[in-house]
Amino acid sequence: MQERILTGDRITGKLHLGHYVGSLKNRVELQNSYECFVLLADVQALTTHFDHPAIVCDNLRHVAMDYLAAGIDPNRSTLFIQSMIPEIAELTVYFSMFVTVNSLRHNPTIKTEAAERGYKQLNYGFLGYPVSQAADIAICRATLIPVGEDQVPHIEQTRKIIRRFHDLYRPVFPEPQALVGDIPRLTGLDGGRKMGKSSGNAISLDSSPQQVKELIQKAVTDPERIHKNDPGHPDICPIYSYHQAFNAPQADDIYKNCTQGTIGCFECKTKLAAKINELLEPMNERREAISNYPKQIDEILISGTERARALARETMQEVREAMGIAY
Ligand code: SF4
Repeated sequence: MQERILTGDRITGKLHLGHYVGSLKNRVELQNSYECFVLLADVQALTTHFDHPAIVCDNLRHVAMDYLAAGIDPNRSTLFIQSMIPEIAELTVYFSMFVTVNSLRHNPTIKTEAAERGYKQLNYGFLGYPVSQAADIAICRATLIPVGEDQVPHIEQTRKIIRRFHDLYRPVFPEPQALVGDIPRLTGLDGGRKMGKSSGNAISLDSSPQQVKELIQKAVTDPERIHKNDPGHPDICPIYSYHQAFNAPQADDIYKNCTQGTIGCFECKTKLAAKINELLEPMNERREAISNYPKQIDEILISGTERARALARETMQEVREAMGIAY
Protein backbone atom coordinates (compact mmCIF):
# COMPACT_ATOMS: atom_id res chain seq x y z
CA MET A 1 0.00 0.00 0.00
CA GLN A 2 1.28 3.50 -0.86
CA GLU A 3 2.35 5.43 2.24
CA ARG A 4 0.22 8.41 3.16
CA ILE A 5 1.19 11.93 4.18
CA LEU A 6 -0.92 14.35 6.17
CA THR A 7 0.13 17.94 6.20
CA GLY A 8 -1.54 21.34 6.43
CA ASP A 9 -1.70 24.68 8.16
CA ARG A 10 -3.88 26.65 10.52
CA ILE A 11 -5.86 29.15 8.50
CA THR A 12 -4.83 32.32 10.30
CA GLY A 13 -3.27 34.27 7.41
CA LYS A 14 -1.34 34.08 4.19
CA LEU A 15 1.48 31.55 3.93
CA HIS A 16 5.02 32.93 3.98
CA LEU A 17 8.60 31.88 3.28
CA GLY A 18 8.87 30.23 6.72
CA HIS A 19 6.05 27.87 5.73
CA TYR A 20 7.72 27.25 2.39
CA VAL A 21 11.12 26.13 3.70
CA GLY A 22 9.68 24.49 6.84
CA SER A 23 7.35 22.07 5.10
CA LEU A 24 5.62 23.30 1.93
CA LYS A 25 8.67 22.66 -0.27
CA ASN A 26 8.82 19.10 1.08
CA ARG A 27 5.12 18.55 0.44
CA VAL A 28 5.40 19.60 -3.20
CA GLU A 29 8.24 17.10 -3.71
CA LEU A 30 6.64 14.29 -1.71
CA GLN A 31 3.31 14.38 -3.53
CA ASN A 32 5.06 12.56 -6.39
CA SER A 33 5.84 9.50 -4.29
CA TYR A 34 3.18 9.49 -1.53
CA GLU A 35 -0.56 9.75 -1.26
CA CYS A 36 -0.88 13.29 0.10
CA PHE A 37 -3.67 14.80 2.22
CA VAL A 38 -3.46 18.55 2.86
CA LEU A 39 -5.57 19.88 5.72
CA LEU A 40 -6.87 23.43 5.86
CA ALA A 41 -7.09 23.56 9.65
CA ASP A 42 -9.84 26.10 10.19
CA VAL A 43 -11.01 24.60 13.52
CA GLN A 44 -7.49 24.74 14.96
CA ALA A 45 -7.18 28.33 13.73
CA LEU A 46 -10.16 29.14 15.94
CA THR A 47 -8.28 28.00 19.06
CA THR A 48 -6.51 31.37 18.88
CA HIS A 49 -8.93 33.31 16.62
CA PHE A 50 -12.33 32.30 18.06
CA ASP A 51 -13.06 35.98 18.68
CA HIS A 52 -12.25 36.88 15.04
CA PRO A 53 -13.69 34.05 12.93
CA ALA A 54 -13.83 36.32 9.87
CA ILE A 55 -10.02 36.09 9.66
CA VAL A 56 -10.31 32.32 9.28
CA CYS A 57 -13.10 32.57 6.72
CA ASP A 58 -11.32 35.25 4.69
CA ASN A 59 -8.08 33.30 4.56
CA LEU A 60 -9.42 29.86 3.64
CA ARG A 61 -9.37 30.33 -0.14
CA HIS A 62 -6.23 32.43 0.09
CA VAL A 63 -4.30 29.58 1.73
CA ALA A 64 -5.73 27.12 -0.82
CA MET A 65 -4.44 29.46 -3.52
CA ASP A 66 -1.02 29.59 -1.83
CA TYR A 67 -0.86 25.78 -1.91
CA LEU A 68 -1.76 25.59 -5.59
CA ALA A 69 0.61 28.44 -6.47
CA ALA A 70 3.46 26.71 -4.60
CA GLY A 71 2.94 23.59 -6.69
CA ILE A 72 0.51 21.40 -4.75
CA ASP A 73 -1.26 19.49 -7.51
CA PRO A 74 -4.92 18.69 -6.72
CA ASN A 75 -4.68 15.61 -8.94
CA ARG A 76 -2.00 14.20 -6.66
CA SER A 77 -2.91 15.80 -3.32
CA THR A 78 -6.27 15.90 -1.55
CA LEU A 79 -7.00 19.37 -0.14
CA PHE A 80 -9.71 19.30 2.53
CA ILE A 81 -11.39 21.53 5.11
CA GLN A 82 -11.18 20.40 8.73
CA SER A 83 -14.54 21.74 9.95
CA MET A 84 -16.34 19.82 7.20
CA ILE A 85 -15.15 16.47 8.60
CA PRO A 86 -17.17 15.99 11.82
CA GLU A 87 -15.49 12.60 12.37
CA ILE A 88 -12.30 14.48 13.33
CA ALA A 89 -14.17 16.17 16.18
CA GLU A 90 -15.50 12.79 17.35
CA LEU A 91 -12.04 11.19 17.33
CA THR A 92 -10.64 14.21 19.18
CA VAL A 93 -13.09 13.54 22.02
CA TYR A 94 -12.08 9.87 22.27
CA PHE A 95 -8.37 10.71 22.15
CA SER A 96 -8.77 13.46 24.77
CA MET A 97 -9.46 10.76 27.35
CA PHE A 98 -5.95 9.31 26.96
CA VAL A 99 -4.09 12.56 27.60
CA THR A 100 -3.54 14.22 30.96
CA VAL A 101 -3.97 17.95 31.34
CA ASN A 102 -0.48 18.10 32.88
CA SER A 103 1.19 16.54 29.84
CA LEU A 104 -0.47 19.17 27.64
CA ARG A 105 0.58 21.97 29.97
CA HIS A 106 4.19 20.76 29.68
CA ASN A 107 4.12 20.40 25.89
CA PRO A 108 7.02 22.69 24.82
CA THR A 109 5.22 24.04 21.75
CA ILE A 110 2.10 24.93 23.75
CA LYS A 111 4.28 26.63 26.39
CA THR A 112 6.25 28.64 23.82
CA GLU A 113 3.20 29.68 21.82
CA ALA A 114 1.23 30.63 24.96
CA ALA A 115 4.19 32.78 26.12
CA GLU A 116 4.57 34.42 22.69
CA ARG A 117 0.85 35.26 22.65
CA GLY A 118 0.95 36.52 26.24
CA TYR A 119 -1.73 34.06 27.41
CA LYS A 120 -2.04 34.03 31.20
CA GLN A 121 -4.88 31.49 31.14
CA LEU A 122 -5.19 28.78 28.51
CA ASN A 123 -8.55 27.93 27.03
CA TYR A 124 -9.50 24.27 26.74
CA GLY A 125 -9.35 24.31 22.92
CA PHE A 126 -5.86 25.86 22.82
CA LEU A 127 -4.53 23.42 25.42
CA GLY A 128 -6.09 20.51 23.53
CA TYR A 129 -4.61 21.52 20.18
CA PRO A 130 -2.14 18.57 20.13
CA VAL A 131 -5.01 16.13 20.74
CA SER A 132 -6.96 17.58 17.85
CA GLN A 133 -3.84 17.35 15.69
CA ALA A 134 -3.45 13.68 16.67
CA ALA A 135 -7.02 13.08 15.48
CA ASP A 136 -6.27 14.78 12.12
CA ILE A 137 -3.31 12.49 11.58
CA ALA A 138 -4.93 9.30 12.84
CA ILE A 139 -8.19 9.75 10.94
CA CYS A 140 -6.21 9.85 7.68
CA ARG A 141 -4.06 6.94 8.90
CA ALA A 142 -1.06 8.97 7.79
CA THR A 143 2.46 7.58 8.14
CA LEU A 144 4.60 10.62 7.41
CA ILE A 145 4.04 14.20 8.59
CA PRO A 146 6.10 17.03 7.05
CA VAL A 147 6.31 19.64 9.80
CA GLY A 148 8.33 22.60 11.03
CA GLU A 149 10.64 22.01 13.99
CA ASP A 150 8.13 23.44 16.50
CA GLN A 151 5.54 20.79 15.61
CA VAL A 152 7.73 17.78 16.42
CA PRO A 153 6.48 17.50 20.05
CA HIS A 154 2.92 17.27 18.67
CA ILE A 155 3.86 14.30 16.50
CA GLU A 156 5.43 12.60 19.53
CA GLN A 157 2.20 13.25 21.43
CA THR A 158 0.26 11.69 18.54
CA ARG A 159 2.42 8.56 18.66
CA LYS A 160 1.76 8.24 22.41
CA ILE A 161 -1.99 8.61 21.94
CA ILE A 162 -2.03 6.01 19.17
CA ARG A 163 -0.01 3.55 21.28
CA ARG A 164 -2.43 4.07 24.17
CA PHE A 165 -5.39 3.41 21.87
CA HIS A 166 -3.77 0.20 20.62
CA ASP A 167 -2.97 -0.96 24.19
CA LEU A 168 -6.56 -0.36 25.30
CA TYR A 169 -8.42 -1.69 22.24
CA ARG A 170 -6.68 -3.01 19.13
CA PRO A 171 -4.37 -1.68 16.40
CA VAL A 172 -6.16 0.60 13.94
CA PHE A 173 -3.63 3.33 13.09
CA PRO A 174 -0.04 3.41 11.82
CA GLU A 175 2.44 5.29 14.06
CA PRO A 176 3.39 8.43 12.12
CA GLN A 177 6.91 9.83 11.70
CA ALA A 178 7.74 13.55 11.58
CA LEU A 179 9.67 14.83 8.59
CA VAL A 180 11.36 18.17 9.28
CA GLY A 181 12.47 20.34 6.31
CA ASP A 182 16.15 21.19 5.64
CA ILE A 183 15.56 24.60 7.22
CA PRO A 184 13.43 23.74 10.26
CA ARG A 185 12.82 27.36 11.29
CA LEU A 186 13.27 30.67 9.50
CA THR A 187 14.25 33.76 11.50
CA GLY A 188 11.95 36.80 11.24
CA LEU A 189 12.88 39.91 9.24
CA ASP A 190 13.16 41.73 12.58
CA GLY A 191 15.64 39.11 13.86
CA GLY A 192 12.85 37.44 15.88
CA ARG A 193 13.09 33.72 16.70
CA LYS A 194 10.67 32.74 13.99
CA MET A 195 9.10 34.25 10.87
CA GLY A 196 5.39 34.52 11.63
CA LYS A 197 2.35 36.17 10.15
CA SER A 198 1.15 37.40 13.55
CA SER A 199 4.58 38.89 14.33
CA GLY A 200 4.54 41.04 11.17
CA ASN A 201 8.08 39.89 10.30
CA ALA A 202 7.34 37.67 7.31
CA ILE A 203 7.54 37.70 3.52
CA SER A 204 4.29 36.23 2.26
CA LEU A 205 4.36 33.94 -0.76
CA ASP A 206 2.16 36.33 -2.77
CA SER A 207 4.59 39.27 -2.40
CA SER A 208 5.41 41.21 -5.56
CA PRO A 209 9.08 41.59 -6.59
CA GLN A 210 9.01 45.19 -5.37
CA GLN A 211 7.55 44.22 -1.98
CA VAL A 212 10.27 41.57 -1.57
CA LYS A 213 12.99 44.13 -2.32
CA GLU A 214 11.53 46.62 0.16
CA LEU A 215 11.03 44.07 2.94
CA ILE A 216 14.55 42.70 2.55
CA GLN A 217 16.12 46.18 2.50
CA LYS A 218 14.29 47.02 5.75
CA ALA A 219 15.32 43.80 7.51
CA VAL A 220 17.72 43.98 10.45
CA THR A 221 21.37 42.99 9.96
CA ASP A 222 24.46 42.84 12.15
CA PRO A 223 23.90 45.93 14.39
CA GLU A 224 27.66 46.44 14.86
CA ARG A 225 28.24 46.91 11.14
CA ILE A 226 28.10 50.63 10.46
CA HIS A 227 30.34 51.03 7.38
CA LYS A 228 30.60 48.85 4.32
CA ASN A 229 34.20 47.90 5.20
CA ASP A 230 33.46 46.90 8.80
CA PRO A 231 33.93 43.15 9.28
CA GLY A 232 30.44 41.70 9.80
CA HIS A 233 29.02 38.83 11.85
CA PRO A 234 26.84 36.83 9.46
CA ASP A 235 26.00 34.26 12.16
CA ILE A 236 23.79 36.81 13.90
CA CYS A 237 22.35 38.31 10.70
CA PRO A 238 18.94 37.11 9.44
CA ILE A 239 19.96 38.03 5.90
CA TYR A 240 22.78 35.51 5.98
CA SER A 241 20.40 32.81 7.23
CA TYR A 242 18.13 33.61 4.26
CA HIS A 243 21.10 33.26 1.90
CA GLN A 244 21.63 29.79 3.38
CA ALA A 245 17.97 28.97 2.78
CA PHE A 246 17.42 30.54 -0.65
CA ASN A 247 20.88 31.08 -2.13
CA ALA A 248 22.84 28.10 -0.81
CA PRO A 249 25.45 27.95 -3.63
CA GLN A 250 26.61 31.52 -2.85
CA ALA A 251 26.18 31.42 0.93
CA ASP A 252 29.86 30.58 1.65
CA ASP A 253 31.03 33.52 -0.47
CA ILE A 254 28.58 35.84 1.30
CA TYR A 255 29.93 34.65 4.65
CA LYS A 256 33.53 35.28 3.61
CA ASN A 257 32.84 38.67 2.04
CA CYS A 258 30.80 39.79 5.04
CA THR A 259 33.42 38.79 7.62
CA GLN A 260 36.17 40.43 5.51
CA GLY A 261 34.13 43.59 4.97
CA THR A 262 34.21 43.27 1.18
CA ILE A 263 30.46 43.36 0.61
CA GLY A 264 28.02 46.00 1.79
CA CYS A 265 24.66 45.12 3.35
CA PHE A 266 22.78 46.84 0.49
CA GLU A 267 24.49 44.66 -2.13
CA CYS A 268 24.10 41.55 0.02
CA LYS A 269 20.37 42.23 0.39
CA THR A 270 19.96 43.01 -3.32
CA LYS A 271 21.44 39.60 -4.22
CA LEU A 272 19.13 37.90 -1.75
CA ALA A 273 16.00 39.70 -2.98
CA ALA A 274 16.81 38.59 -6.55
CA LYS A 275 17.06 34.95 -5.41
CA ILE A 276 13.80 35.09 -3.46
CA ASN A 277 12.06 36.69 -6.43
CA GLU A 278 13.37 33.88 -8.65
CA LEU A 279 11.67 31.43 -6.30
CA LEU A 280 8.40 33.38 -6.11
CA GLU A 281 8.11 34.24 -9.81
CA PRO A 282 6.63 30.89 -10.97
CA MET A 283 4.35 30.91 -7.90
CA ASN A 284 3.05 34.35 -8.81
CA GLU A 285 2.47 33.21 -12.41
CA ARG A 286 0.50 30.16 -11.25
CA ARG A 287 -1.44 32.32 -8.78
CA GLU A 288 -2.44 34.70 -11.55
CA ALA A 289 -3.53 31.85 -13.83
CA ILE A 290 -5.64 30.26 -11.07
CA SER A 291 -7.18 33.54 -9.98
CA ASN A 292 -8.90 33.75 -13.38
CA TYR A 293 -10.94 30.69 -12.35
CA PRO A 294 -12.05 31.31 -8.73
CA LYS A 295 -14.75 28.60 -8.92
CA GLN A 296 -12.06 26.04 -9.58
CA ILE A 297 -10.67 26.55 -6.06
CA ASP A 298 -14.08 25.81 -4.53
CA GLU A 299 -14.42 22.69 -6.69
CA ILE A 300 -10.98 21.46 -5.62
CA LEU A 301 -11.86 22.01 -1.94
CA ILE A 302 -15.28 20.36 -2.22
CA SER A 303 -14.07 17.25 -4.05
CA GLY A 304 -11.02 16.93 -1.76
CA THR A 305 -13.20 17.24 1.34
CA GLU A 306 -15.56 14.56 0.01
CA ARG A 307 -12.61 12.21 -0.55
CA ALA A 308 -11.21 12.90 2.93
CA ARG A 309 -14.62 12.43 4.53
CA ALA A 310 -15.05 9.00 2.93
CA LEU A 311 -11.69 7.98 4.43
CA ALA A 312 -12.65 9.49 7.82
CA ARG A 313 -15.92 7.54 7.88
CA GLU A 314 -14.09 4.28 7.18
CA THR A 315 -11.55 4.99 9.93
CA MET A 316 -14.24 5.88 12.47
CA GLN A 317 -16.17 2.68 11.73
CA GLU A 318 -13.01 0.73 12.62
CA VAL A 319 -12.41 2.93 15.68
CA ARG A 320 -15.92 2.34 17.00
CA GLU A 321 -15.65 -1.40 16.35
CA ALA A 322 -12.27 -1.53 18.10
CA MET A 323 -13.76 0.32 21.09
CA GLY A 324 -16.88 -1.85 21.12
CA ILE A 325 -19.26 1.07 20.51
CA ALA A 326 -20.36 0.34 16.92
CA TYR A 327 -24.07 0.28 17.79
FE1 SF4 B 1 24.20 40.59 6.98
FE2 SF4 B 1 24.97 40.53 4.46
FE3 SF4 B 1 25.28 42.75 5.92
FE4 SF4 B 1 26.79 40.62 6.39
S1 SF4 B 1 26.77 41.83 4.52
S2 SF4 B 1 25.75 41.88 7.95
S3 SF4 B 1 25.34 38.95 5.96
S4 SF4 B 1 23.36 41.80 5.31
